[in-house]
Amino acid sequence: MRFAEVLTSAAEQPLFAMSTDAMLLLDSKGCIQTVNPAVPGVTGYRQTSLLHKTFVSFLEPEHICAFSKGFHEAMQGQASTQQAQFRHADGHMQFFELRIIPWTHDAGRLVYIVMKDMTELKLASQMIHHIAYHDTLTGLSNRTMFQIELTRRIAAFASSRKPFSVVLIQLDRFQIITDSLGHNAGDLLIKMVSERLEGYLSDDEHVSRMGSNEFAMLYATPEEALRAVEKLDSIYERLTRPYQVHGEAIYLQVRMGSAQYPRDGEDMTGLLRNAAMTRSVECAWDVVQGTEGRHRAADRLALENDLRKALDRGEFEVYYQPQYEIHTNRLTGMEALVRWRHPERGLVTPGEFIPAAEETGLIIPIGEWVLREACEQTKRWQDMGYGKLTVSVNLSIRQFRKMNLIGDIYRIVRETGMDPACLELEITESMAMEDMNRVIRKLEELKQLGIRISMDDFGTGYSSLHYLKKIPIHKLKIDQSFIRDIASDRDSAAIVATIIAMARHLKLEVVAEGVETAEDLLFLKEQQCGKAQGYFFSKPLPVKEFEMLLQASRPVLV
Ligand code: C2E
Ligand code: MG
Ligand code: MG
Repeated sequence: MRFAEVLTSAAEQPLFAMSTDAMLLLDSKGCIQTVNPAVPGVTGYRQTSLLHKTFVSFLEPEHICAFSKGFHEAMQGQASTQQAQFRHADGHMQFFELRIIPWTHDAGRLVYIVMKDMTELKLASQMIHHIAYHDTLTGLSNRTMFQIELTRRIAAFASSRKPFSVVLIQLDRFQIITDSLGHNAGDLLIKMVSERLEGYLSDDEHVSRMGSNEFAMLYATPEEALRAVEKLDSIYERLTRPYQVHGEAIYLQVRMGSAQYPRDGEDMTGLLRNAAMTRSVECAWDVVQGTEGRHRAADRLALENDLRKALDRGEFEVYYQPQYEIHTNRLTGMEALVRWRHPERGLVTPGEFIPAAEETGLIIPIGEWVLREACEQTKRWQDMGYGKLTVSVNLSIRQFRKMNLIGDIYRIVRETGMDPACLELEITESMAMEDMNRVIRKLEELKQLGIRISMDDFGTGYSSLHYLKKIPIHKLKIDQSFIRDIASDRDSAAIVATIIAMARHLKLEVVAEGVETAEDLLFLKEQQCGKAQGYFFSKPLPVKEFEMLLQASRPVLV
C-alpha cells in the first residue's frame, strides 16, 4: 500500500473517525499527517493549519522533552501516556492526557496521538487544592497551609538552626467595624490588611490568614536583635495606618506576638503558643448585635475616629478640682481631670471616652498632654504666688504599662520646670496588682524623682494589705462610693473609719473623694481624715474659674 492509501485507511477507521477525543497520526518525523474530525472542536485549529507541522510545535516548551521521549519509544513499538499542556487556537491553556500509540503498517511505522481533554478536571482539582489551602477572600494561604509551611521550615532549619520568626497578628475590635459599617466594609478591610502584609514580604517569607481577624507570618529573623524589633515595629506601623473605606478613615487596633525558632520553641506547637502568649494581654472584644448594637458600634467608631483628631484640634481641656486639708480648711492642691470639648457633642466626660482611649491606645498621647498641661498650669499658679500647690494627675493602665513611662514623665517635669515634689500621680489598685515586682520597680523610680503616688478609688479593687505594705505609695484616696453612704450606711462609715485608721498606722496620707455634704465632712473630721475633695467644696473647674477660687483662698494660702 502506498503511504497516501495508508493514511486514508487510517482516517476511515471508525474509532478514529468517530472518537470525541482529538486524534492525530504522526509520521516518523513527528509531523502531523492526518487528524480526526474531533480535532478542530477540541483544539480550535482547522485541519489545514495542523497538517505537515510537527506536533511538538503546538506543545508548551516544558513538555517537549517528555513528549519527544514518548515519541521515540513509540517508534520502538512501545505505547505510553503522559500529561501535557497545549495552547488552544484562541490562546487559552488546555491540559491533555496524551496517549502515544505506535502503529505498524506496510509502509513503515506511524504514531497515533490520542488527546484526552483534562482541562476541566485539572482546573477542578487545582481549584480544590487552592480552596483547601487558601483563604477565598484574600487569596492568602490558610491555617492548614501555614502549618505545613511551618513544619517544612522547622525541618529545613533543623541542621543549620538559623533563626526564623513566627508572628501572629490579630485585629482587635474588628467586630465593631463590621457591625457598624457592614460586612462588605469588613471584607474590604481584611483585603487591605492582607495586601499590606503581602506587600511587605520578600520571596522566602510567608503570610497566611489564620482566621477571620487573624494573620500569621514567617520570615528569617534579622540577625541583629534591634533590627528584629524594628521589623516588628514596621509591620505594626504599616498595619495601623488609616484605611480608607467608603470614603472614611478607619483605624485598626492590632495586637502582635512573635516567637523565634529555635530560641522560643523547636516545634510548631511551642512556636505558635509562644507567639500567642507574647501578644499583649488586654483583650477588648466588644461584640454588639442587633440594630441597637449596630448604632452603638457606629457611635463608638465615630467616637474613636473623632478622638484621634481631638488632640491635634486642641479639643481637650483640663479641669481642676480642689483638695482641702480638713482640719485647716486650706486649699492645698487639685486633681487634674480631663474634658473633651467635642464640636457637636459638647463637653464629653472622661467616663465616656477614657475607655475608648484606653482600648485604642490613644490614652498615651492624651495622658501625656494632660500631664504636661497640668504641670505647666500648676507652675504658672505657683509663680503667680498661690503657694505650694500639689497637682494630682490620673495615670491610665496603658500609660503605666508603657516601657518608657519614667523617662516620659521625667522629660515633662524637666521641660515644664515643675517641682516634682508638687506632682502626684494617681494609680488604681488593678494597676498595682498587675505585676508586683515591675510595679514596685516603677514606683520606686518615680519616688526617686521626688514624685508622689496616690492610690485612687481605694477600696473598690482587690486591695491586699500585704500589697499596701510593700508598694511605695504616699496616699490613699477613699473611693467616693463609701463616702456617699457614710450618713446612711453604717457599714460604709465603718469601712471609711477603718481605712483612715489603717492609713494612719501605715503612715499614708488619706483623701476622701466625693465629699458632698457638711455631714460627710464632719464625720471625716471626727475620724481625723487628712484631706477631702468633692462637690461640697467645688466641682472640677476650668482654669479661669479655678483661678478665681485660688484668689478667694489667697488669704489663707499666704
Ligand atoms: P477619679 O480620678 O476618681 O476622679 C474623680 C471623679 O469624681 C471625677 O469625675 C470628679 O468629677 C468626680 N467627683 C468629684 N467630686 C465628686 C462628688 O462630690 N460627687 C460625685 N458624684 N462625683 C465627684 P470625672 O472628672 O468624670 O472623671 C472620672 C474618672 O475619669 C476619674 O476618676 C479618672 O479615673 C478618669 N480620668 C479623668 N481625667 C483623667 C485623665 O486625665 N487621665 C486618665 N487616665 N483618667 C482620667
Ligand atoms: Mg483620680
Ligand atoms: Mg477616684
